Amino acid sequence: MTKVIANGITRAYSETEMPYVVAEPCICVKDTACVDACPADVIHPRVDEAQFAAAKPLYIFPHDCTDCGACVPVCPVSAIYAIEDLPEKWAHFAIRNADWYKQAENGSAS
Ligand code: SF4
Ligand code: SF4
Repeated sequence: MTKVIANGITRAYSETEMPYVVAEPCICVKDTACVDACPADVIHPRVDEAQFAAAKPLYIFPHDCTDCGACVPVCPVSAIYAIEDLPEKWAHFAIRNADWYKQAENGSAS
């Protein structure tokens, strides 16, 4: 059974797809400029979602990210990277992103 996890996201996450990742610089900022810029509405949690306060950082739902890159230039702290450009020191943020959506599917994301 497919479970709605956030604002209409209903498809199962495939970790083989990870176009863009939000890394550490977002954590203390979280201004949601990328959320507003994303035409696919795949950056979560939004400010109106329960997990927003606890989320460190925001996360990109890889399955429906269209790889458009619109989120990258609007980030004031350059926290968003195409997966092939993600600095090694922040490689764990790709795993963190994947884990967050897996937990969201289970209803335990924070
Ligand atoms: S690359 Fe495009 S679709 Fe993917 S998260 Fe960024 S703005 Fe959204
Ligand atoms: S624009 Fe950058 S700092 Fe702001 S929420 Fe998005 S990733 Fe975080």
